[in-house]
Amino acid sequence: MNYKISLAHGSGGGKSRELIENIFKKYFSNPVLDRMDDAGVLKLNGKNLAFTTDSFVVKPIFFEGGDIGKLAVSGTVNDLAVMGAKPAALTAAFIIEEGFEIEKLERIIKSMKETADEAGVIIAAGDTKVVEKGSTDGIFINTSGIGVIPEEIKTGGAMAKSGDVIIVSGCIGNHGASIITSREDLGFKTFVRSDVSPLNGLIESMLEVVPEIHVMRDATRGGLATVLNEIAIQSEVKIEVLEEKIPIQEEVKGVCGLLGLDPLYLANEGRIAIFVKEEDTQKLLDVMREHKYGREASVIGNVVDNTKEPVVILKTAGSGGRILDMLSGEPLPRIC
Ligand code: MG
Repeated sequence: MNYKISLAHGSGGGKSRELIENIFKKYFSNPVLDRMDDAGVLKLNGKNLAFTTDSFVVKPIFFEGGDIGKLAVSGTVNDLAVMGAKPAALTAAFIIEEGFEIEKLERIIKSMKETADEAGVIIAAGDTKVVEKGSTDGIFINTSGIGVIPEEIKTGGAMAKSGDVIIVSGCIGNHGASIITSREDLGFKTFVRSDVSPLNGLIESMLEVVPEIHVMRDATRGGLATVLNEIAIQSEVKIEVLEEKIPIQEEVKGVCGLLGLDPLYLANEGRIAIFVKEEDTQKLLDVMREHKYGREASVIGNVVDNTKEPVVILKTAGSGGRILDMLSGEPLPRIC
């Protein structure tokens, strides 16, 4: 690979995957990492531990519905929770630019504490580095997290099966649209509220009712379209989703229309895609809709077949359907 890193390599889409396959896995490859799930699962002293990390570089750091701190805690909690783990503790590492206001830092830390309390996790360790003015942009945060997966829970990106019903936990695209409308240079006067939220409470109540959920994945960078493709590849299946069943708020459609973006590729920070057996679908929907983060849970499609040529088809009312690819390029850098 005789070329340089571009913003697309950080998109969470096709280019990110290329970098992982060609560089990171070339050296780091091992059975835990190679599963390519939201968290690595380690067996230690007879217990299954989920372990994950994520860095946050969102711009702006304060946006409608959240901030970089709420994002940093929610993102890592959600990557543990979608593996079926009960998140226990996080680390928090800060890279801060010289001159950054202490008042802003305190707002971020307070927000992290409130989100951690809601999720029932502690910050167990931390680190701070300060770099010279101009060496970074304000503040970047990394969080790592650890949690225990109960013995009876088995879920993962490779477990989608023919006949599975696909659910999304709520309206998609809000986080991406929130960041866009919060960027001053774009001149939006009304703001979309981000969906950023810790989902471990919702997921715990789901697993209580349906312990056998085949796949759960938070639809973050690359959006719903990209995570459906990831799951299709991991599970070697063909997926069909119905466009009119995918819940999207009018204001999100409006923002996308103005900028020529597709809400299916916008980031979410509090939404999951779920693959479950057909007979469990209704009880799962019922319990989800009782939770504040699952009120708009909707069935959007299903797994139609096992295949060596994984594909996601978007069906529309008027037409047969088209292939829905994973995100290519990077339309919106620094979304999380
Ligand atoms: Mg994830």
